[in-house]
Amino acid sequence: MDGASPEVLEGGCHCGAVRYRATVRSREAVECNCSICTKKGFVHLLVAEEDFELLRGADALTTYTFGTHTAKHHFCRHCGIHSYYRPRSHPERIDVNVRCLEGVEPSDFRLSTFDGQNWEGSVEELRARDRTRQ
Ligand SMILES: [Zn+2]
Repeated sequence: MDGASPEVLEGGCHCGAVRYRATVRSREAVECNCSICTKKGFVHLLVAEEDFELLRGADALTTYTFGTHTAKHHFCRHCGIHSYYRPRSHPERIDVNVRCLEGVEPSDFRLSTFDGQNWEGSVEELRARDRTRQ
């Protein structure tokens, strides 16, 4: 999908209270092995803030934080689904759960892994990779 035109996808939580629209510029996603991502089954798609629009559900969202409290783990207080959040690695971006997007599967994305069990070292590597892409 690289080089293709951006796709606009919609997604949200299970009960429908939370809905959003995201512009996907490249089908690249990340799986993380940290304590919370493994339990959530979160498949990460990072998008710029301007490529994300919360259509509804701001009032349905509640937020869990832990550790450094940098990541804002939003979830729907009705159905409990974590459909997107603000990640510690990229607090200026939005991290969408590919599993919550309609019309796509994680296998439609090029998946890489983030070693969240060794977070500090892994994030340096990730940021260095981002810089070389810009
Ligand atoms: Zn919900």
